[in-house]
Amino acid sequence: MPYFYKRGNMGKQFTVIDEEFKCSHCGALVPKLGYSCRDHCNKCLYSKHVDINPGDRASDCMGDLVPVGIEPNSKKGYMIIYKCQKCGAIRKNKAAEDDNYDLILKLSANPMI
Ligand SMILES: [Zn+2]
Ligand SMILES: [Zn+2]
Repeated sequence: MPYFYKRGNMGKQFTVIDEEFKCSHCGALVPKLGYSCRDHCNKCLYSKHVDINPGDRASDCMGDLVPVGIEPNSKKGYMIIYKCQKCGAIRKNKAAEDDNYDLILKLSANPMI
């Protein structure tokens, strides 16, 4: 079974920053992830440049992070590679279990990476 179709146990232990938010790119209301930090939209995969280190919300860039590629990681599953539209920084976020799998497939075939 593909990793992305395996629904996680949406338990009630929220020990990391995991917030519901409205995606500024596609407008989808993205629910809390439940097992980890929700750091990108699961519909369009866009994220925001708000972290310097993952989860710290220490960056004041706030540019749109555009998904540009996929990097398989043997330990963490898929990593989504982002480029910040504002400052050009390259960032990687772990893909979530309920991410748009079609988009991930498209990105993994992206010749840019
Ligand atoms: Zn979105
Ligand atoms: Zn940025």
